[in-house]
Amino acid sequence: MDCICKVPGCGKPKLKSDWCFMHSRVVSNLSEAGKLAATMSHFAPSLVPVDVIGFIDSFPKVQGNLALSIVIAMVKEPTAVRAILEFDGGRIFAAGGLTGPILCEALIAAVRVCASTPDRPQSHRDELEQLSRQGVARFFGLASTAMALGVIVKTHDDDSDDAGAVVQLGLTGLTYRITADSSMCCKFVQAIDAAGVAPPNVQHDATGAVAELIQYAECLRQLLRSVGGTVPLGTKQKQKSGYVTDFIVRKLCLGWLAVWSCASTPAMEWEDVPVSRWRALLADSHEHVAELPSAWSSAQASAFICGRPDWPFLTSMYVCLWKEVADVFGETARRQFDGASDVGAVIASFHRRHGFAPHPYVLTRGLQS
Ligand SMILES: [Zn+2]
Repeated sequence: MDCICKVPGCGKPKLKSDWCFMHSRVVSNLSEAGKLAATMSHFAPSLVPVDVIGFIDSFPKVQGNLALSIVIAMVKEPTAVRAILEFDGGRIFAAGGLTGPILCEALIAAVRVCASTPDRPQSHRDELEQLSRQGVARFFGLASTAMALGVIVKTHDDDSDDAGAVVQLGLTGLTYRITADSSMCCKFVQAIDAAGVAPPNVQHDATGAVAELIQYAECLRQLLRSVGGTVPLGTKQKQKSGYVTDFIVRKLCLGWLAVWSCASTPAMEWEDVPVSRWRALLADSHEHVAELPSAWSSAQASAFICGRPDWPFLTSMYVCLWKEVADVFGETARRQFDGASDVGAVIASFHRRHGFAPHPYVLTRGLQS
């Protein structure tokens, strides 16, 4: 067992490292983040980020409503998402569809749950610390989303507001005032509804599913670009670069893939889908997927980075997650992981304490202490 290449399904003998000759050569051509991701691939299944788990968990409930799906993707924080979905006994799912005023009230309910008060759940603070590591916290999260939708505004020192409407959010303790103004929520819901983007067809064949998702993603990008003219999703600069749009599209596609994977028996087969197809679908802003051999199938890329052949849609994300470790620690981190026998125990202990997986950076720091 120990003399076989670590990539599941490879089966070739390993040479001087954990990989066979072919996989060693691919590893040596990767960026440091890619090398780390490949080195740690067998831990990938236990390192799924908290917001991805949370989104996949909520998506089946919201998949029929595009506006709500987008809001859930942007809010990210599992505690806030739960507060939105459970607000007033699930009024967000009321017959007659989602309206701007209901969305506004649900967001206010979430703001109240997540505000920095002595009653704020510790689990929410843990989530924020984890999510702030992913570098996107500035553009997403409850505070940014509620602000983009006009439900809260930043307060100024000279504000003489009604104290009950002022809340502190996030880790930095910034204060906001609840406006209870639903006009932006109304514009947002109406614009999404009017576009009539059809959900992708449920496909159990991997090639068909990816083709369907690529088409769906394109419609979604167009819609988000046009909605972005009215509702400021993310900051203006990031919106221009397409970053916010790419992020939302990726989340929604992940949701559909998860729904299909659950419905599909036997499991979807990714051998026939070239890895390059994912670059047409998912944001690959650091060109991580482009570093992998273009002749590889999605299953090969997934086994190599995610430690299992059926998660090709997470390949780019894992390399991205390891980027901070690569940037901060360089090659030292990889040497540290190479010899470490307690990585699994550190992950499991973090999981027991917080209820979710550590960010790779937090894991690296945890092993050093
Ligand atoms: Zn191999």
